Amino acid sequence: MSENKKTQLITMGRKNQWTQGVVNPPIQRASTVLFNSVLEKHKATTNRANKTLFYGRRGTNTHFALQDAMTQLENGAGCALFPCGAAAIANTILSFVETGDHILMVDTCYEPTRNFCDVMLKKMGVETTYYEPTIGKDIGSLIQPNTKILFTESPGSITMEVQDIPALSRIAHEHGIIVIMDNTWSAGLHFNALEHGVDISIQAATKYIVGHSDTMIGTAVAKAPYWDQLREQAYLMGQCVSPDDAYSALRGLRTLDVRMKQHQSGSLKIAQWLESQPDVDHVRHPALESCPGNDIFKRDFTGGNGLFSFVMKGSHPKATTALLDGMKHFGMGYSWGGFESLILANEPESFKSLRTVANPNFSGTLFRIHIGLEDPDDLINDLEAGLNRYRNMLQQKPE
Ligand SMILES: *Cc1c(COP(=O)(O)O)cnc(C)c1O
Repeated sequence: MSENKKTQLITMGRKNQWTQGVVNPPIQRASTVLFNSVLEKHKATTNRANKTLFYGRRGTNTHFALQDAMTQLENGAGCALFPCGAAAIANTILSFVETGDHILMVDTCYEPTRNFCDVMLKKMGVETTYYEPTIGKDIGSLIQPNTKILFTESPGSITMEVQDIPALSRIAHEHGIIVIMDNTWSAGLHFNALEHGVDISIQAATKYIVGHSDTMIGTAVAKAPYWDQLREQAYLMGQCVSPDDAYSALRGLRTLDVRMKQHQSGSLKIAQWLESQPDVDHVRHPALESCPGNDIFKRDFTGGNGLFSFVMKGSHPKATTALLDGMKHFGMGYSWGGFESLILANEPESFKSLRTVANPNFSGTLFRIHIGLEDPDDLINDLEAGLNRYRNMLQQKPE
């Protein structure tokens, strides 16, 4: 029997051939690799796609260790590395489409993914249809003869809808369509995408894999039938990562499980507290019943994390500003997955440009928060003070 994933996280990628016997692999920086003989050069060239030192763009031992680790984490045939999550998404899609093709994109995708489809794919003559995240088996009605990719992201960006990945994958595969998932939310630890029918699982490893808000990196782990094409076409597009960044990601992996446990327990406690607050209309946290797709979350995921949203009863921009401007522990900034807590607000109008078929059904301000590794009670106190500032601003009489 294979060990638990959290045990595996400690040794993933730690082959002597990459580490030379120390615990962590050396950071091996290289463009040129020197060969001692014509025969050696010939061997390296022949094996260049197979974790052999050949030229810097193909990676060094530091990269090979991370690729091995991510391949094991997500149970794939191989892992391509990218300079960030957005590059992983763009280049994975580009590796499998050509002019005249069609892709199905979940309407709740990460905003730059949508922009990539609307600008870059459109320019290439690849058509995108956005679909409702909870469409499930009705996805069949949107499939065209030229549909190449079904792209999923679960839970959905900002509004957290959980998708029925096994049902979507089954139907896509009946039509010979590749299923790609942005699996950043689960970090590959709490949702094994490939075992649920996905062909290629992408992560912004920038988030939980790195875990310390100091490195940009993207990963795409593919099943065997797609690995060669993904690896070679991403290579043609010049995708590569610095060994220092590969090292940060590998180091982050070692503590992924313990960090996720703390993010998860803190976020659940705070989500439940928020549910009881009078100004809060509802909480969108996949582990709570108020979240669309909570039943699927309970069926398919083995755990959660620190990222969720809550929606206020109304939209009052001045009160929202009063809440945001005085936060002590919650920083205001993009991204998530680091050790620190973060908060951002979306007014309901902003969804007009973010969604075309799944306009969320609420009229209040949405706050998206990331629960870091601080004590959850301190974070609750911070949010309580913020909600008091919010209420005080609402009660102020106009002059
Ligand atoms: C952040 C994020 C990305 C993009 O990752 P970068 O490393 O910032 O380019 C992609 N998908 C999701 C779901 C994200 O949260």
